[in-house]
Amino acid sequence: MKRKTFIALTCTLILAMAALTGCGSKKETAGDTASDDKVYLIACDAKYAPFSFEENGTYKGIDVELLDAIAKTEGFKYELKPMDFSAVIPGITSGQLDGAIAGMSITDERKQSLDFSEGYFESGLSIVVNANNTDINSEADLQSKSASIKKGTAGSQFAEDNTDKYGLKLNYFDDSPTMFLDVENGNSDFLLEDYPVIAYKIKVDGDSKLRIAGDKLYTVDYGFAVKKDDNQELLKMFNDGLKKIKEDGTYDKIVGQYVGE
Ligand code: GLN
Repeated sequence: MKRKTFIALTCTLILAMAALTGCGSKKETAGDTASDDKVYLIACDAKYAPFSFEENGTYKGIDVELLDAIAKTEGFKYELKPMDFSAVIPGITSGQLDGAIAGMSITDERKQSLDFSEGYFESGLSIVVNANNTDINSEADLQSKSASIKKGTAGSQFAEDNTDKYGLKLNYFDDSPTMFLDVENGNSDFLLEDYPVIAYKIKVDGDSKLRIAGDKLYTVDYGFAVKKDDNQELLKMFNDGLKKIKEDGTYDKIVGQYVGE
């Protein structure tokens, strides 16, 4: 009897271990070839209208809807993971995320650790001030000002690169809405945000407390990102799908809901 119990226990243990190992290896395998049961974990910025934002409990926006249309066209499954932008790139490079569509600017620095798709949207960085502010109208007016910036972004990079040049004081935020409030409330003199994002906010606000100061500092494209040399099949499907939805009018339909005349 004792011997039987021992064998039964051993069998249960082996089965349990096999089950655990099985589950673990499946999810962890980044860079797999696409298979029917593969579900890609893809991040978006949790608060980045008109690219990704929550409305009545569901996520919508240009990034969210382009991804969904591309996934349907190419026949892959994904799980959307909305998060603060500062967590997105570390999430990809550590292998916790398979990719991201997060209003992410394609930069040479990021290309050292990420591979980008073809650009899917033209963007660029704008200086934004309180609507009552009259003394900041271009980059030349930033001397000794305080800047409200969002962690981990191209905007924060620009501010950090120019801190000494202009004697800036930097105030960091986790997401765009709280960064906007900081300038609306008069705490910081200006903020840095991508042109399409701030233009959309000002349009939606109506009588906005914010104003865009001068021309864009530079122009840059957004790209879908994966870890460098990894998840290449996902990157290829994104590029192929993007081309198809541009050709069949789906791209214009999605983008047209949020930007345009
Ligand atoms: N485009 C900017 C960047 O890549 C901002 C992105 C964002 O805030 N989601 O850093």
